[in-house]
Amino acid sequence: MYVVIIGCGRLGSELAYRLFKRGHEISVVDEVAAAFDELPTDFIGRIIEGDALNQDVLHRAGIERADAVAVVTNKDTLNLVVGRVASELYHVANVILRNYHPDTFSLFDAFGLQVVSSTSWGAQRIEEMLYHSDIRTVFSAGNGEVEVYEITVSKEWGGKKIQDLIPCSDCMLIALSRNGRAFMPDKNETLNVGDILDIGATFEGIEALREKMRKPVKEG
Ligand code: AMP
Repeated sequence: MYVVIIGCGRLGSELAYRLFKRGHEISVVDEVAAAFDELPTDFIGRIIEGDALNQDVLHRAGIERADAVAVVTNKDTLNLVVGRVASELYHVANVILRNYHPDTFSLFDAFGLQVVSSTSWGAQRIEEMLYHSDIRTVFSAGNGEVEVYEITVSKEWGGKKIQDLIPCSDCMLIALSRNGRAFMPDKNETLNVGDILDIGATFEGIEALREKMRKPVKEG
């Protein structure tokens, strides 16, 4: 895949290096020459110094033949404009934008491009970790509206049925791993201590599950 990354700061340089390590061809653009110092010394890719609002800079980055563009500067408006140019003018199939300030998220949404709101996502993750460490997030869909959580069945829940634990429609069991093997269990399956459950849920769904876990069902 040929990927153009706009912005080579903390996020762009990390992304560029990860993709490079996986064998992709990368062009990185930044208006500040010193930004490229963020790239590890073994990075191999095209480095273009210039303002991403300048179309000549985008041409030098090879945007015409890009399979994907990630616009990850620290300026929301610029990310929107350059993302729009990549999508509408150059018909890049996969354009992904970084959203920095949560207040501007709705504007991003209106453009119909894929957005990663690292600020909102980070705040949500930290909030969850502050509340609970017994439930771990293993995958985030969208901007974290639905996440896949992993929990290990504690002794309070050993011997109980899945349907007693999984509380509502906002919360769905995806897989149960037992003795190193995963399967999709029936809701009448009895839980064993140490089982690992992967559960897809909204924020409300996982809160309802946490509430249940605080108050296990009575015997019988
Ligand atoms: P960071 O917040 O550390 O991920 O850094 C964001 C990067 O975006 C910085 O290196 C900025 O120099 C870069 N940047 C900001 N505006 C532009 C622009 N107009 N064109 C290219 N790069 C930019």
